Amino acid sequence: MISAVKYIVLIAALFFSGSIFGQKVNEPKNNPKEWSEKTEPFRIAGNLYYVGTYDLSSYLIVTNNGNILINTGLANSLPIIKENIKKLGFDYKAIKILLITQAHFDHLGAMADIKAETGAKLYIDEKDAAALISGGKSDYEMGKYGITFKPVKSNRLLKNNEKITLGNTTLTMLHQPGHTKGSCSFIFNTNDGKKTYRVLIANLPSIIIDRKFSEVKDYPGIQNDYAKTFQAMKKIDFDLWVASHASQFNLHEKRKSGAAYNPNAFADKATYFKNIKDLENIFLKKIKQ
Ligand SMILES: [Zn+2]
Repeated sequence: MISAVKYIVLIAALFFSGSIFGQKVNEPKNNPKEWSEKTEPFRIAGNLYYVGTYDLSSYLIVTNNGNILINTGLANSLPIIKENIKKLGFDYKAIKILLITQAHFDHLGAMADIKAETGAKLYIDEKDAAALISGGKSDYEMGKYGITFKPVKSNRLLKNNEKITLGNTTLTMLHQPGHTKGSCSFIFNTNDGKKTYRVLIANLPSIIIDRKFSEVKDYPGIQNDYAKTFQAMKKIDFDLWVASHASQFNLHEKRKSGAAYNPNAFADKATYFKNIKDLENIFLKKIKQ
């Protein structure tokens, strides 16, 4: 009885304080212009396509039973993503599963709208669930800007190494926290009729705070999470890789507009391991301070 009353009071408090849904989205401005610019969509390898903006990666995985979209860019990326999917000859409404690599506004700004428009199910790393519901307000760093994207509820919470299957494609989610509590990468096999490629969609663990890890009260395990993520990311085996930002995997150097299908352009493993090492060095320097 008491708990029921408490519950009602809590619900009422949420409604009348206007705490989440009543507040307006304050997406940070002054972002790099490349985040909002168009770029040519293209086939990366097998059933994996690039449909994002010039720098904010969005990936479409086309299966024989609907499609998967990973990351949505900013709120203003939506028309670009839709146009890119159309240009490739696919149906925006065929998106059945939505995924993200991290709960920051530059990767899920359009998520609530895409989810509503397509009716697709959103699967997320369980540790980013709170950030999604709060519109980013609960994030240890970006929370200082308030609500930075439209709050969105997930349909399924994923744990490390959990599988996501749609039609003939199965992805594995790799829990790689630090950048956000539920940052993650995805790995899967794709075949283009000639060859099978193991593709890594990597979320690189960059550090976004100036203060010490010990001062991050909203994320007490942050330093340990980064340390574990670096170890895990150094051990991943794959053939091709891409990332949450085009600039992180040098997309526009690897592929010029109008270029023919060439999966091997993304086989550059040396850059992946160098990027991880460089980021780890920044991390090691930071914890010594
Ligand atoms: Zn981020």
